[in-house]
Amino acid sequence: PSSIELKGLHKRFGKDTVALDDVDLTIEAGEFFTLLGPSGCGKTTLLRILAGLEEPDAGRVWIGGEDLTDIPPHKRSVNTVFQSYALFPHLSVRDNLAFGLRMRGESKADRRRKVDEVAEFIQLGSLVERPVGQLSGGQRQRIALARALICEPNVLLLDEPLSALDAGLRGQLQVELQRIQKRLGMTFVFVTHDQDEAMVMSDRIAVLDAGIIQQVGPPREVYEHPRNAFVARFMGHDNLFAIRASGDDWVDTELGRLRLDPAEQHESQDGWLLVRPETLELNTEVPEGYNRLQGRVMERLYRGSRIEYRLEVEGVTMMATSSNLGQRLHDVGDKVTVSVCPEDLVRVAS
Ligand code: ADP
Ligand code: MG
Repeated sequence: PSSIELKGLHKRFGKDTVALDDVDLTIEAGEFFTLLGPSGCGKTTLLRILAGLEEPDAGRVWIGGEDLTDIPPHKRSVNTVFQSYALFPHLSVRDNLAFGLRMRGESKADRRRKVDEVAEFIQLGSLVERPVGQLSGGQRQRIALARALICEPNVLLLDEPLSALDAGLRGQLQVELQRIQKRLGMTFVFVTHDQDEAMVMSDRIAVLDAGIIQQVGPPREVYEHPRNAFVARFMGHDNLFAIRASGDDWVDTELGRLRLDPAEQHESQDGWLLVRPETLELNTEVPEGYNRLQGRVMERLYRGSRIEYRLEVEGVTMMATSSNLGQRLHDVGDKVTVSVCPEDLVRVAS
């Protein structure tokens, strides 16, 4: 596998659209790396620059330690899987898989052997002679993946390859894809706009907004310690409360005065307090030093494995979740004491 290094990438379309704005990024060899961000934030543009299909206005691209910025696509050991499978529906699975090998002039015997191997690998061995047009969406997506893998690129780029699939199949392929990547030890650069997908699959995630990288880190770090309000919201956090003023361990927020983790350094910056719904405890005995707030249950959402409550605290809406493990459910209208440990409160920049 190859490492990837991007330095100072800029890309504009026309006069007004800045697709990438000074992107610096290092991706390790053998890493499952995900570009995460809303539609139009520049994910596909970044992939296309890696593939050599798009030329940056400024900046350099190194793959495997080599400067490939001016090298054409077919001379890069990089392959791409797109959201639309781009398979030939009337051709068999075998002919679809062998297509790239044939273009490279590999012998018939080699093509046969490699197709059989890769078809076995993606567990479609029994279907190789079938026309692709007869296969299901999930099977086609696996074939698109196999077709990209068969040429053994050093880097595989995947542009929202699962977003056209329904939830069940998608979850299954998320696991499979991750397993395949680990087994091959190939460098994957995966694109998605779905934060759950990014978290479940990736070694590291880069969150992009408007062509700018907002944060890079392992899923847990990005989720639990988002660097700014954009990242926090994009990772699915709703419980962000304005900070009004702060000393060191204490902050005045729209929820009232709260104690932060005394073990951490707190600069006095404006911003937001992130309160993760799963860190809140309702009506339970908690140790000394926890923050306590008074609230009222406005809505209860029964999710089976967990219960979500929409609470009103100090005139502000707050979400709390609890696991559905032998707990008494709180009813709409109930008054509840909401407790949270200082260590679970996270300060987030604007
Ligand atoms: P994403 O994949 O994150 O949805 P893209 O990289 O496709 O985003 O697009 C980033 C921005 O660049 C968008 O504003 C998009 O409209 C614009 N863009 C992308 N490709 C082109 C193009 N070929 N011509 C003009 N504008 C483009
Ligand atoms: Mg895109």
